Amino acid sequence: MSDLFSLDNVSVQFKVGRKILRAVDRVSLAIAEGETLALVGESGSGKSTLGNVVAGLQVPTEGTLAFKGRKLDRASWPVARRAIQIVFQDPFGALDPRMPVSDIIAEPLRIQGTANAAERAARAAELIEQVGLPVDALNRYPHEFSGGQRQRIAIARALAPRPQLIVADEPLSALDVSIQSQVLNLMKDLQAAHSLSYLFISHDLAVVNHLVDRIAVLYLGRLVEVGPRAELFAGPAHPYTRALLASVPRIGARRSRGRAIVGEMPSPLAPPPGCVFHPRCPLAQDICRTEVPMLAPLAARAGEAACHFRDQVA
Ligand code: ADP
Ligand code: MG
Repeated sequence: MSDLFSLDNVSVQFKVGRKILRAVDRVSLAIAEGETLALVGESGSGKSTLGNVVAGLQVPTEGTLAFKGRKLDRASWPVARRAIQIVFQDPFGALDPRMPVSDIIAEPLRIQGTANAAERAARAAELIEQVGLPVDALNRYPHEFSGGQRQRIAIARALAPRPQLIVADEPLSALDVSIQSQVLNLMKDLQAAHSLSYLFISHDLAVVNHLVDRIAVLYLGRLVEVGPRAELFAGPAHPYTRALLASVPRIGARRSRGRAIVGEMPSPLAPPPGCVFHPRCPLAQDICRTEVPMLAPLAARAGEAACHFRDQVA
């Protein structure tokens, strides 16, 4: 599989008063064509900021981006932007309440100026069916729909410009558990039908277990582990990944691998020296307090982890 989108050494820094907040810190990562990559981590770890970078909504402070091997700059971004769409968590806030659903779905096409009114209406009708809603939904307004239905509308809109990559930022988090699996299954079906890649952002590892090929784990803006889903679930290499998995009963219960995470994430305004995870890490040694571990391949299986003790069996 070749890379569809790649980030090389990307950082995003925000000015907060007179301080610098490193929301994303030197992240290198690639999403392959047709792949679903999960981005997981606690709230505040930088997932949305990184997702916004991929969707072209946030300009990185440092680092480079590439789409299909072509470096993204002022000239190449407009083309890539059409191929990359985003679906947000909040199905209530994301849709303009004054627009009928047909206009909401067709809006990206209207903005692009690539389709006339009849073509846009035809595309909206095609998409509403693909996301499992009746055609008469097109003439109704967002407030007439449930949360799950609204998320289907948001997905239809994201599909309108025929994207190759969809950034889904916690798309299920605001939905009832019973609805979550329906939307998840819809996303799976659409992926097959449209050969899409997903960057699927979630704080819930149980959700990503059903959809994704690979998992990238963020902690305080840093990538601490990346690996194939099954291998990472079976043998997490980073103590943070292990702690995250232990806090998911459905997965962690199968084989106990230590305690769920303790303490609070430090402020990204004052990240700990050395390994940023060391204050919460049960394995921390002196080296962890002083030396930043680099993301490096694991000896025993596919995947990488940024831990001085990544090859030690838990
Ligand atoms: P997540 O999606 O994993 O919860 P975010 O990417 O939203 O994390 O946030 C990462 C960190 O960056 C947090 O500490 C958050 O407060 C901070 N942050 C995000 N956006 C901004 C902003 N526009 N200005 C200042 N700080 C921000
Ligand atoms: Mg977020």
